[in-house]
Amino acid sequence: MSTLTIAQASCADDYDPNSMPVAKARAFIHQFLAPVSGLVRVPVRDALGRVVAEDILSPVDVPSHRNSAMDGWALRGADLKAEGETTLAEIGVAFAGKPFAGKVGAGQCVRIMTGGVVPEGADTVVMQERAKADGKSVTFAAGQKTGQNVREAGEDLKAGAVALRRGRMVRPAELGLVASLGIGEVAVYRRLRVAFFSTGDELKSIGTALGEGEIYDSNRYTLHGMLTRLGCEVLDMGVVRDDPGAIERAFAEAAASADVVITSGGVSVGEADFVKSILSKLGEVVFWKIAMKPGRPLAYGKLGGAHFFGLPGNPVSVMVTFYQFVRDALLVLMGTDPVEPVPTFMATCTQRLKKAPGRTEFQRGILTRGADGALSVRPTGEQGSGILKSMSDANCFIILGDATGNVEPGTTVEVQLMEGVV
Ligand code: AMP
Ligand code: MG
Repeated sequence: MSTLTIAQASCADDYDPNSMPVAKARAFIHQFLAPVSGLVRVPVRDALGRVVAEDILSPVDVPSHRNSAMDGWALRGADLKAEGETTLAEIGVAFAGKPFAGKVGAGQCVRIMTGGVVPEGADTVVMQERAKADGKSVTFAAGQKTGQNVREAGEDLKAGAVALRRGRMVRPAELGLVASLGIGEVAVYRRLRVAFFSTGDELKSIGTALGEGEIYDSNRYTLHGMLTRLGCEVLDMGVVRDDPGAIERAFAEAAASADVVITSGGVSVGEADFVKSILSKLGEVVFWKIAMKPGRPLAYGKLGGAHFFGLPGNPVSVMVTFYQFVRDALLVLMGTDPVEPVPTFMATCTQRLKKAPGRTEFQRGILTRGADGALSVRPTGEQGSGILKSMSDANCFIILGDATGNVEPGTTVEVQLMEGVV
């Protein structure tokens, strides 16, 4: 890991905290990330959604035996006539899991099922659709090739080869792969512990009546959802009043008990000043105005050993900044390697979009496929950063880059699906 400090990194010539391009902010954060240390061994099923912490080598050849890829007959390729049909004598059967004990000699064949061990002497399988059986006499169509339809032992994976690399997130396919090797336990990184709290005197928790000007805290719920889906251990520290003492205590407690601290609210202009002085006491934090919408104010830093992300307070901004900055950073800390950015693709925008050049916008969109198979996207409506329903109605972001201005209907735009992100 880099020994660069946050203060050193923020001295770069082109570093401007008041106008931070999205890509530059991401790159800045990534200089300070390294996987957590510590691994645990868990039973295969419990590895789902976790990250492999040690290369998993195959203890066996896969497949373990030369076997048939088809239902048909196993025979010697040398017996196939150069031209026309070939007739051979069936001397037995080989089912999957029940091999034929004998040897296939000249002029002979063995009935074989998919997965059945190819018997000694045979090197070729002819599928049943290309054969005609008359009692024990089987006639094969012309045009068969020696070696066809036979899966060699170790063809998929040789004993000793790496089946799963360290850093791989375990999905259902990996569970099956590990099981297919007869491995019962997997070493995974310990779970990343993430503490979060909301700040704001206006925030109330569910179950209390709202006074004038008060709102229910929703950010702790979206954060809970996104962090849980990502596979983190979450530590919800509730709402903290806009009071320097309470905020300092909350930061100190969060930093001491978690790998990552996330807050929402309190980093915008006006509020940032007293939060800034608290954070500079506890660690090293930079405050940015990101050239993006929504999600302009963002803070990142280290509080002792913990990484800190100070997200804006607006509910949509919280989600957008989490998707665009926090997700990939947490995946690195969780041990995922490589971290693949969420893919984007192009779709035709069917409506006019208002957009000012000079910043990246993440508008909320609804992506649909028309009768002609083409993808089109439209915005969810009002795009205010407080309108959480725009996130709920959306299935994608419409990403409009810095240079883009207003978008006219029919223009191709970049979209990024939300589902599967976290
Ligand atoms: P702030 O960044 O603290 O100035 O907050 C910006 C806006 O987001 C204000 O309208 C807040 O009331 C709102 N907000 C802040 N935190 C939350 C939260 N946890 N849940 C819902 N809205 C919030
Ligand atoms: Mg606030």
